[in-house]
Formats: sequence, C-alpha cells, structure tokens
Amino acid sequence: MLLFLRSKDLVPAARERLTNLGVDFQLVSEEPIFEIRAHLSIYSPPVLATKLADLGRVETGKSRTPLLDAMPSGHEVVVEVRGRTEPIRFRNQPRQAVWIAGPCSLDESNNLEENAARLAKLGVQVLRGGAVKPRTSPHEFQGVGRAGYSQLARAAHAHGMACISETLSEDDVPEAAEFLDIIQVGARNMQNFALLRKLGRCAKPVMLKRGPGATLLEWASAAEYILNEGNRRIILCERGVRGLETELRYTLDLAGAAFMQHRYSLPMVIDPSHATGVKQILEACTAGALAMGFAGVMLETHPRPAEARSDALQALTPEEFSAIAGRHLHS
Ligand code: PEP
Ligand code: MN
Repeated sequence: MLLFLRSKDLVPAARERLTNLGVDFQLVSEEPIFEIRAHLSIYSPPVLATKLADLGRVETGKSRTPLLDAMPSGHEVVVEVRGRTEPIRFRNQPRQAVWIAGPCSLDESNNLEENAARLAKLGVQVLRGGAVKPRTSPHEFQGVGRAGYSQLARAAHAHGMACISETLSEDDVPEAAEFLDIIQVGARNMQNFALLRKLGRCAKPVMLKRGPGATLLEWASAAEYILNEGNRRIILCERGVRGLETELRYTLDLAGAAFMQHRYSLPMVIDPSHATGVKQILEACTAGALAMGFAGVMLETHPRPAEARSDALQALTPEEFSAIAGRHLHS
C-alpha cells in the first residue's frame, strides 16, 4: 500500500500516525511517499486507507512491485569508487553507457593486473571477474573463492575502475560488501530470496541478472525484494533467456529489456557474452544495446581465452575487445 502525502510537511505527522497504528512502513523516495506493509497489519487495507485519508492519496492496488512503481523515472545508480574522483553513474540514457569487462572467472590463467591496466586504458569503467562461480556441474571449476574479491578490488582500484563480482549465497555477502563496488546476483540466483533480502540490507549497489526462465514480472519482483529491505541502488542485467534456440547459448531479450526500461526506472545493463556465447556476434549485440540507450554493457574478455577455466569460447581476446571498444565505447 502506498500513501502519497499531500505535502512534504506532512512527513512527521504521517510517521506519528503510522507508528500509532502499529504498521510497518518506510519512506520510499525523496518524494513524500510511504510504503506501508499492509499485509502485516492488523487492519485490512480498506480500514487503513480510511484512517490515513486526510494525509493524502492512498493506493491499495494489487501491484506486486509497489516500491518499484513508486521510484522516480530516470533513477540513477551512483557507484562511488575508492581512488576515483568522479563516481560511476548507471542511468538509461543514450551515449552514457558504462562498460563492464573482464574475465568470466578469476583464475590462475589471468594476469589480472595487466588485464585491468589494458581495460582501463580503453575506457572500461568496471572490472568484472567471478570469484565464486555458479557452475552447472560440481565437477567444473568452482572459482578461487571469496579471496578473489579483494584481489579484484585491488586490480580495479589501482586503475581507477570499479569492480563487480558475484555472491552465490548469503555467506558471501559480508566479504563481498567489504571489497566490491557492485555485487552481482547471478542468473541462477535471481529468486534466491534470502540472498536478495540480505543484499537489500547491505550498503552496496547490486546488479540483478535475469533468470534464464524468468518472466519480466518475476524479475521485477526479485528487484522488489531488494528494494523492500531499503537498498535502492539496483541495476538490472539482461543476460539471455531460454527459448527454442540451439545455435546460441540463450536468447538475448532486448525487447524485454526495453520493456523493463519503459515500465520501471532501474538502469539496465546488457550482457551479450552470456546471452549468446558466440564471440562473432558480440559486437552486433553490443551496438544494438548501445543504440537502445541502456545504462551499460558487459563483455567477457581474457588475455588467452584458451586457458580460461570457464566460458573460454565466448571470451574476447584483448585485440578483439579493443577493436570493439575502439569502434563503440566513446560513440
Ligand atoms: C557471470 O556473469 O559471471 C555469470 C555467471 O553469468 P550468469 O549468471 O548470467 O550466467
Ligand atoms: Mn561467464
């Protein structure tokens, strides 16, 4: 339930009234809007609405995403980075895309430091690299573990970049929040509600990838879990859905991403690497994403793809990546 106050001056009075009614609530934006968890109240929504009517308009609608719905349009996620004067801004608007690049996993075949220097020079703002990896089989490389978070952060910060890596479970969150600038929720964890809640209570931006079988509403509802705990710095990432395709790894749903951009105000990053798994079409998909005005693109790169311990086939070599960046990064 949302209470749209008649004026900002009513915020203290509304707080007092809601407290007296014993309901759980929070101020959801810079606008004077209170989100009320009516389902937890002893009063039914219509009764609550009557008791608040003099303060403003009450919406008792059945939206599954009332907090997302109440976010102001053009919401920007600002990422502060140690050692960098300007923060990095994620916002859906043409010609402002943030580039995220780096290896699929941090492993011994990567010279992270050299990689970071090269990517930073090309204009990449965020260095990626998985430390704990969600692999389809338990017999595949599972990542170097959480120790990778601090290594990634060191390499990124030394070159003025932010860093992003994935958390697989709630146990990973404290260390991730200590070192990373953005915490990634992987596609397979999009509906790990305990993880989403925990990330909602942490003070770092979260990039929420779309589950390969998730509808747009399920994806938005997962973001709502994070928002519901108070964390507003949420970035969405389209990484392909499972369709009927067999030539490509998944199906890159640019229309779905455009719909999310239109319907909600969260910044959207497009990940052509995981969506397609085919190196030769990464540039085309990147160009498409940039033309559509999304907030960012994410591409996997590796100094020697053949040696990568995960996603070797889709990793761009430094030369391939710099050719793509040269043609598109500053356009
Ligand atoms: C990744 O980006 O490292 C990753 C594992 O991707 P996804 O969760 O989209 O499969
Ligand atoms: Mn990967």
